[in-house]
Amino acid sequence: MRKAFAVFLVLLLASGIGIAQYVRTFDPSITVATWPYNKSMAFTVTCDDVSSGYSLEYLQEIRSLLDSYHVRATFFVIPFHGEWDLMTESPELVRELHELAGAGHEIGLHGYAHYQNEFVCPPESQRELLKKGLDIMNQAGITVRGFRAPCLQCTEETLSILKEYHFAYDSSMFGESGRPLFGGPLPQLLSGHEYTWYLSEEEYRENVSLAQKEADSKFKEETVFSVVMHMKAVNEGEGISLMKELLAFVTEKNVWNCTLLELVEWETAVKEVRWDSRKTLTGGDITFYNVPEGLSLTIVLPSHYASDLSSDDVTMTCHTDDKTCKVTVCFEKSYGEVTLPFTLSYGSLQSRNDMEMVRGRSLDSSLSPPCQCLPGGMLIAWEMLCLPYRNAERVKSLEELLLHPSFL
Ligand SMILES: [Zn+2]
Repeated sequence: MRKAFAVFLVLLLASGIGIAQYVRTFDPSITVATWPYNKSMAFTVTCDDVSSGYSLEYLQEIRSLLDSYHVRATFFVIPFHGEWDLMTESPELVRELHELAGAGHEIGLHGYAHYQNEFVCPPESQRELLKKGLDIMNQAGITVRGFRAPCLQCTEETLSILKEYHFAYDSSMFGESGRPLFGGPLPQLLSGHEYTWYLSEEEYRENVSLAQKEADSKFKEETVFSVVMHMKAVNEGEGISLMKELLAFVTEKNVWNCTLLELVEWETAVKEVRWDSRKTLTGGDITFYNVPEGLSLTIVLPSHYASDLSSDDVTMTCHTDDKTCKVTVCFEKSYGEVTLPFTLSYGSLQSRNDMEMVRGRSLDSSLSPPCQCLPGGMLIAWEMLCLPYRNAERVKSLEELLLHPSFL
């Protein structure tokens, strides 16, 4: 009797494994999170009209405001304000800008002299203005990758011209908040909402609640919340106080604060992420390509899979219920290529106790061992065979199991 059963068991195992290898599929469902590190919103702050024509204390006040909330911003500089205030003639301003860049802020270009509608002119004149502006920035030792036209006014040729000069984006588009627009010669970013233009005491409360309401709604939409301020206009009036309240409010949330350049680079990088999945002997694996640091994603598999990776640079949280194994992954550094292995979950049950625990559940009788007095080794072999089907819990009988080998 025992001999007959042993032969039956070997045949069953062989056919089961055989079918599993050829029929079982590994078909993960993958959703990539919009923002790095599973943040719910991107938050940008820009400061326009940075000029040597204004008191340096204004810029220092803005910097200490941002520092106290660990917020980084993009500062758009006017190189030769009114063709009167030349940036390079103010070594204090140049030093301050270098310190800002060193602290992770971004420095961008805000035209040349900031005349009204300066960049609404023929392409050749725009090139001339850009060249003159960039020369001054170069003399100051500052590299710029972002542009915002004075008065947010430019022409349809401006994007292509900026591209010739190796800019990474343009932010001359008027609009409160939103994700960058791709599709033209250069990515375009909206200017953001300004709540702090020479803000009076009378307008103060109304603007604070408007700003908080908008931050809340952008957070719910999981999009971008962009705030713009102007040097001098934010300092003279109640602007700095409003910004303090707003930064305290926003930074308490699960937000990703970034510069405009980082926002564009992130959105560009996420478009390049690719993956392949394949079945393996022990389960399956997924290989991801072009992974930027902070990429977060959710992988959903049937519940008989388990994640099988321990790494300092990849955080994986696994939640398994009756039907699915839901794995949240965050890559804490960038990878050209990285593979995540997944095993069939019986592989994670290593001790006899685990097996006994599973065996103790109410199971369909067709999956109980044919004889309760099997020797220990054979009982374990039987359990190993049955565990994946039990995990699936949809299989009602051995017959059904063999008819639907995908449960393997
Ligand atoms: Zn301006």
